[in-house]
Amino acid sequence: MNSIVIPKYINTILPYEGGRPIKEVARELGIPENDIVKLASNENPLGISPKAKKAIEDNIEEISRYPDGNAFYLKQAINKKFNIATNQIVLGNGSNDILELVARTFLSVNDEAIYSEHAFAVYSLVTQAVGAKGIEVPAKNYAHDLDQFLLAINENTKVIYIANPNNPTGTLIDKSTLKSFLDKVPNNIVVVLDEAYDEYLDNNLKSEAFDWIAKYKNLLISRSFSKAYGLAGLRLGYGVSSANLVEVINRIRQPFNVNSLAQIAGIASLDDDDFIVTSKKINDKGMKQLTNAFSSLGIEFIRSYGNFIAFKFKDELAAMMYYQHLLKNGIIIRPIANYKMPEFLRVSIGLELENDKFIKILSNCNI
Ligand SMILES: *Cc1c(COP(=O)(O)O)cnc(C)c1O
Repeated sequence: MNSIVIPKYINTILPYEGGRPIKEVARELGIPENDIVKLASNENPLGISPKAKKAIEDNIEEISRYPDGNAFYLKQAINKKFNIATNQIVLGNGSNDILELVARTFLSVNDEAIYSEHAFAVYSLVTQAVGAKGIEVPAKNYAHDLDQFLLAINENTKVIYIANPNNPTGTLIDKSTLKSFLDKVPNNIVVVLDEAYDEYLDNNLKSEAFDWIAKYKNLLISRSFSKAYGLAGLRLGYGVSSANLVEVINRIRQPFNVNSLAQIAGIASLDDDDFIVTSKKINDKGMKQLTNAFSSLGIEFIRSYGNFIAFKFKDELAAMMYYQHLLKNGIIIRPIANYKMPEFLRVSIGLELENDKFIKILSNCNI
């Protein structure tokens, strides 16, 4: 008899559901891999920066050695690009690692973390995994309602997670709203500002939060190399915060959490602005292409500031029929019922031809 007792808060966690891998869909449906278009995980359809690719190829032998646990050169590169002191940077195995490190560092049983309804799923997962209580604040028009966040704060609140832009809704909080929110949050609460999609914002909308960390010592900004930088498979992200917070988080970080090729590719990617500029251009064009198509098909969607769009059907049944129809025709997108948006699907913006194929198959679905 199995006598292992699993803590209740672990037993009730629902596993994270990612976009379905191309190989898996190819295997199940008998479609050649090359005929499959994956628009399900907000990856960069251009792939990786040629500079990153070359750096990986040139340094492949490095993997026989342990990586530099302090990632000296990558921190230098981040410092050079964003003018952030290296003792204010903590590196993660993806930015998910940073989100989890925050939970493991600052939350214990009976503590509370606040995040929005329809916000990125990892916030609730990492909160629950440490036995803390997640407080989900109802969204307002699918966006974060920061006034309600303030009302949800109590003496147990230790962490607040904010995704800006948010995934899967694509909504954006403007800078002045965020700043006045930070002014009102008690400074014993860690505020995580997850900026995984910042590279896709127009210049006037881009985050200025790196300039705010001097004032708000409880603010931590997380950034990812998985989206515009195209390194989702390598797992690389980082957090920027006050030196004090970073120092405590580093105490529980696994010493070699960021592998050597990720460090090398990260440095090369930061040195390739052209790739980011091109990626944003393609995204802007694809955004127009898809939103125009939705409009002409009479499909409602949420205006998005990321590289993806959530679009709506009359109910969950209709959404799932469209999802299955697309899948059968080799297009992988993402149902978001687990985000309490069962009547929606989320599509990542691809290359023009991929978007075309998606639109064509979407429009010939007779349901
Ligand atoms: C994709 C995504 C991340 C990135 O996760 P990584 O671990 O860096 O791959 C973080 N936050 C949000 C809101 C995301 O959508």
